[in-house]
Amino acid sequence: MNEKIKEILGEYRKYESISHAQRLLDWDLETYMPQGGIEIRGEVISNLELMQQEFFYRIKERVESIEDRDLDDFERGIIRRLKRDIHFYVSIPPEVLKDLSKVTTESSVVWREARKKGDFSRFSPYLERIVEIERIIAEKLGYEKHPYNALLDLFEEGFTVDDADNVFGTIQNKCKPILEKIISDGRFSRKHPLEKKKYDVKRMEMLNRKVLEILEMPMDRFRMDVSAHPFTTSISINDVRITTRYEGINFKSTFYSTIHESGHAIYELQKDPQLEFTPVKGAPSLGMHESQSRFFENILGRGRPFVEMMYPQIVENVRSARKYSVDDIYTYFNTVYPSLIRVDADEVTYNFHIVLRYEIEKLLLEDKIQVKDLPEIWDDFMEKYLGVRPKNVSEGVLQDIHWANGSFGYFPTYTLGNVVSAMIKYKIPEFSDYLGKNNIRGIKEILREKIHRHGSIYAPKDLLNKSFGETYNPEYLIKYLEEKYLK
Ligand code: MG
Repeated sequence: MNEKIKEILGEYRKYESISHAQRLLDWDLETYMPQGGIEIRGEVISNLELMQQEFFYRIKERVESIEDRDLDDFERGIIRRLKRDIHFYVSIPPEVLKDLSKVTTESSVVWREARKKGDFSRFSPYLERIVEIERIIAEKLGYEKHPYNALLDLFEEGFTVDDADNVFGTIQNKCKPILEKIISDGRFSRKHPLEKKKYDVKRMEMLNRKVLEILEMPMDRFRMDVSAHPFTTSISINDVRITTRYEGINFKSTFYSTIHESGHAIYELQKDPQLEFTPVKGAPSLGMHESQSRFFENILGRGRPFVEMMYPQIVENVRSARKYSVDDIYTYFNTVYPSLIRVDADEVTYNFHIVLRYEIEKLLLEDKIQVKDLPEIWDDFMEKYLGVRPKNVSEGVLQDIHWANGSFGYFPTYTLGNVVSAMIKYKIPEFSDYLGKNNIRGIKEILREKIHRHGSIYAPKDLLNKSFGETYNPEYLIKYLEEKYLK
């Protein structure tokens, strides 16, 4: 290995140790920490973050002095990832980051209040300030063509407005007729009585544990707990954790949330152990990560063979499901109808929720719309795309926390997850057989080989090209939806 890189990796172990601790502190904060601990924990986490920034300033010159010529893929990946972080911390003045962190800490509290009261005007000044800072960040980072490109790149390396216009343009044009046909056909577009039925939480947990067994989650390296918002965290490659939640009603919600997070966890668990303590351990992007959770949740988990396999376990543990046939349960798991809330949306309407957020973020950054007009703009978009109109801002523009957190450019990665998950289904010939037979081990093995083991040695587009011969192509998602819902 290149001597300079070897030396940097030696130091990186300390940096990664801080990250390791941070993730554990975050996990604890979301699961078992007593409420009273929040303030001090918040300060500890942000202090650790400052220590991390210093690392990048310290190694900057050494990283820049390394010549690309004789490096192998692994080494080149390490340098690429380090340069990205260095570029971020060196380009953006610390005051701007501090400012953003201060505003977003306040604004997420205000957002919660504003959402509860249905009062956008309380949140609006904070969002204005956040958009201003996001524009500054885009300018400091630099971009070609569009300021939004600088922000998209933070979540999805190399993904641009041109790419996004192509993906979302196709989805708008081709998903709309699919949705219309599903609605007029009627089979999937009905609300199902089980959506209103309560379940026994203890029995539901047994069912979720059964799912973990079927997905062959390695219980000596993995665990599942409960939190308000389900998430996955990878403390290390040998310590990966998910959470789920039990609403007590509409059991498909916790069932699929468990499978979704398991998909994220499988990605983390199947990385090459040699990537531990290196800058290429993480996934190459949020979209790539989401493609794995969506693959397990939707393509495997909502597929007919999987539902048939799970059926006996379902009726054993969910009393209200007993009177329904496997056909009914399959329909219940796959209902499609326009609704107002993104997180409750099905796999057909979901992407329209993202198109709308993408359009708004782009217009805001171009300064073509004003924050104060967002409620109206939001509702108009909803009506245009899904034919439904929110009655208040709580079920409209204030429903997600992302903007309050300063995450601009994040939303599109959800749809990229759907796009890539469908690509994977069709691009791997073995999968039609494996999915039909619920060959989980076979599926995991191929995903490990094609995606998981590489970490972020390759940028997302390079990995997609290398493993599937093309990048974000939305046509596979369209094909998948048509085959599933219209045939
Ligand atoms: Mg996810």
